[in-house]
Amino acid sequence: MNSFDEISKILQKNNNFLITSHINLDGDGIGSELALYSILKKLKKKPIILNQGKLPKVYDFLPGVNKVQYLEGDYIDTKSIDVGIALDCSNVKRMGKTYEIFKNIKTIINIDHHTSNENFGDLNYVDSSVSSVGEIIYKLIKFINIDLLDEDISTCLFTSILTDTGSFRYSNVSSKTFKIASDLTSFGIKPHLIAANIYNRNTYPGLKLLGEALSTLEVADSNYVSWLTITRKMLNNTKANDEEIEGIIDVATTLDNTEVSILFRETKDNKIKISFRSKGNFDVNKFAGKFNGGGHPNAAGCLCSGKMYKIKEKILSELINDIRYLKRKS
Ligand code: 5GP
Ligand code: MN
Repeated sequence: MNSFDEISKILQKNNNFLITSHINLDGDGIGSELALYSILKKLKKKPIILNQGKLPKVYDFLPGVNKVQYLEGDYIDTKSIDVGIALDCSNVKRMGKTYEIFKNIKTIINIDHHTSNENFGDLNYVDSSVSSVGEIIYKLIKFINIDLLDEDISTCLFTSILTDTGSFRYSNVSSKTFKIASDLTSFGIKPHLIAANIYNRNTYPGLKLLGEALSTLEVADSNYVSWLTITRKMLNNTKANDEEIEGIIDVATTLDNTEVSILFRETKDNKIKISFRSKGNFDVNKFAGKFNGGGHPNAAGCLCSGKMYKIKEKILSELINDIRYLKRKS
């Protein structure tokens, strides 16, 4: 792994930066992008943020959010870009179509916290012991010059941490996470307003979709495994959009005695996107890896092609097998 010293030298030495994150952008992706963007601006650099797909509406309150560009036929002259920075991407596929642009950049910095990270950068900073990339960006800022930190940047970094820890509920929370969150709060941010912006702005269709999704709840092994299903029909009936699916899986994990919960959903392009959450020792990152996916030990995903019922059958039987095998072993 490279050091903050090596990374900050590259930041200081170059001028034009392209920052990106993963498809289905989340709070950690956008929060760390915007924080790094502001720092580079303060260092008198020329950064651009480019992502595939739209920003989920819940993040529209973040300071600087209007600076983000979305890949929709925009022309980016890659020759003018010195350094590409990938945030929260375990591999280049996670960038989606942005990689087509990214791959032509001379120097790539990969900053991430996924155990499954493939170290695809010319410089790699991957720390899977932290809750979020936001924590890493905070440390990087501290290394460069803590005076660069301000209320707006703190709001973005707090959003990264809040969302990637499921509001400080996941096992990736450490005393260091709270220490950083506390330091950020000292810059005058309002944690309750950040949380309200992200979690208390459900739409009517979004809540109706939650209702439909919950009515599909199924369980196996005395609730040990629980799963939900979202079809295009449910999205059409409720008039909810895809970004309103975010967070629904977390409701399944609240079921008592559930260790692994799954959400199966049909995507716009007829694929099946599967999200996994684990509350205990079952490593869903490893499990998703069997289906070309990945993520973290407690939150992972994969994308499959085929019929919903067949994919469900395959994934559930394999998962239940693995769980029973591990139970027998322990
Ligand atoms: P979600 O279920 O919220 O989409 O994703 C949970 C976690 O799994 C995130 O950290 C995300 O980066 C990762 N993840 C989701 N889908 C995929 C996938 O198809 N491939 C890989 N490598 N990671 C994924
Ligand atoms: Mn993350």
